[in-house]
Amino acid sequence: MARIDDLRRRVQGQLQEQRELVARLLELREQLPGSLFARFSECGKEGCVCQEGHKHGPYYVLSTRRGGKAAFAYLDEQAAGEAKELVDAHRAFRDGLRQLKKVNEDLVGLMKDYQAAASETAGRRVGIAVAG
Ligand SMILES: [Zn+2]
Repeated sequence: MARIDDLRRRVQGQLQEQRELVARLLELREQLPGSLFARFSECGKEGCVCQEGHKHGPYYVLSTRRGGKAAFAYLDEQAAGEAKELVDAHRAFRDGLRQLKKVNEDLVGLMKDYQAAASETAGRRVGIAVAG
């Protein structure tokens, strides 16, 4: 197979991957930037079980940023379950964007190679050597 045809096929493959990736990201319609963690605490009451290692909790804390500042919210168990999905979705989107950037960079690289190969072909036609 000619190099230019091989490049064309690889570009098509990259476009397919890009399309699938974007479609997956567009399915993440709800996302929450931040992180969720469970806290346990000691109350300080004398003789309380928490003094013997059975700490109170878990208390679910959602940490987010609003206007560049950290914000915290306590959530009950059910809300924490939902928040976890939303936080995970946000993380998955961010990972997906990183992947998309890589795919796009690869695509630009392939297109440059394609242009070089197309220039070589054109050079042969007019009888000169062209460096892409
Ligand atoms: Zn206690």
